[in-house]
Amino acid sequence: MKHLVLLGGGYGNMRVLKRLLNSSDLPENIQLTLIDRVPYHCLKTEYYALAAGTISDHHVRVTFPDHPRLNIKYGEVTAIDVKEKKVLLKDQDAVAYDDLVIGLGCEDKYHNIPGADQFTLSIQTIDKSRQTYQILNNLHANAVVAVVGAGLSGVELASELRESRPDLAIKLFDRGDMILSAYKKRLSNYVQNWFVEHGVEVINNSNVTKVEEGALYNHDEKVECDAIVWTAGIQPSRIVRDLDVEKDSQGRVVLAEHHHLPTEENVYVVGDCASLPYAPSAQLAEEQAEQIAQVLLARWNEQPLPEMNEIKLKGVMGSLGKKSGFGTMGSTALIGRVPRLLKSGILWLYKYQV
Ligand SMILES: Cc1cc2nc3c(=O)[nH]c(=O)nc-3n(C[C@H](O)[C@H](O)[C@H](O)COP(=O)(O)OP(=O)(O)OC[C@H]3O[C@@H](n4cnc5c(N)ncnc54)[C@H](O)[C@@H]3O)c2cc1C
Repeated sequence: MKHLVLLGGGYGNMRVLKRLLNSSDLPENIQLTLIDRVPYHCLKTEYYALAAGTISDHHVRVTFPDHPRLNIKYGEVTAIDVKEKKVLLKDQDAVAYDDLVIGLGCEDKYHNIPGADQFTLSIQTIDKSRQTYQILNNLHANAVVAVVGAGLSGVELASELRESRPDLAIKLFDRGDMILSAYKKRLSNYVQNWFVEHGVEVINNSNVTKVEEGALYNHDEKVECDAIVWTAGIQPSRIVRDLDVEKDSQGRVVLAEHHHLPTEENVYVVGDCASLPYAPSAQLAEEQAEQIAQVLLARWNEQPLPEMNEIKLKGVMGSLGKKSGFGTMGSTALIGRVPRLLKSGILWLYKYQV
């Protein structure tokens, strides 16, 4: 028997599993093990709503596949020993592999800003999102909440929290001149105006230099806050950062054409941990996973490796509360109700087809 071990049951590895387990080309001698610290697949793209208190915990969970060829192991991965071909787990025996797909996702990146790791809340894992939910939803009336970082997840959190808690004073700290300034002007104007109309204070050109209990410093100005949520940067999982392999400037693992380590044909990296020519996203993780599944099947069946086509992404959809949204499809910017409906539709399809 050959053993494929998948680390992390996120968007990337769920797609690898789906393609392998449903394939008539999966050889009889391949056994699969999925390892995750959480006993279900988590819809990370919805953590902003979980933290804001507008959806239930149950809404972001999807059951892992039940299949005779798949063994599921729950535990905390602590390290990967590439030389010995084994995965080390906290308080459990190591797991040996023949092939490995690392899909452990990402963590917050604090850019060495003093106090940021200690005094801010996070929406990067399900347990941290639950803690953030508890703190945000237990705040007293008129409390001040700072959201640091106005990328997709910061924008979605600030808008969802506005609808969930109209009494809170929400401050969204954005580094740019204009919110979502990398997008078309029509889109960023729409999002910036949504916040103005809904009473969220957007602080453009901000630079958070220090965080302490109950306050952050924007440039040198102290801003008192009752809660601070960090959405200002991500980096690959520590397990991957600790690997002694080549990384790109964002700490993501540099891969060979077929998505494995240049020096190890049996170790693949998928999703947020992989160095790819796009910003990390669930969509990217899934598209890359499609290719990894093809490569694995070809190798196991001793067929020529498939050509790796350029990964093409369909676009981005973001929400502004439950009724408005924004997005891109090809070169078209979408604003208003349509992108919000599309986002809900995509989520629905994902949940029921995964
Ligand atoms: C609020 C928010 C909104 C987002 N919105 C979008 C969006 O609209 N569209 C989009 O495409 N992307 C979006 N993203 C990004 C997207 O969620 C990630 O890019 C995607 O989840 C990456 O998939 P992955 O498979 O690499 O890892 P993940 O989906 O993060 O999965 C990682 C898995 O590894 C497990 N794990 C991690 N460390 C360990 C360990 N040490 N031991 C055991 N298990 C471990 C975790 O439990 C998890 O199951 C959003 C992200 C956030 C935070």
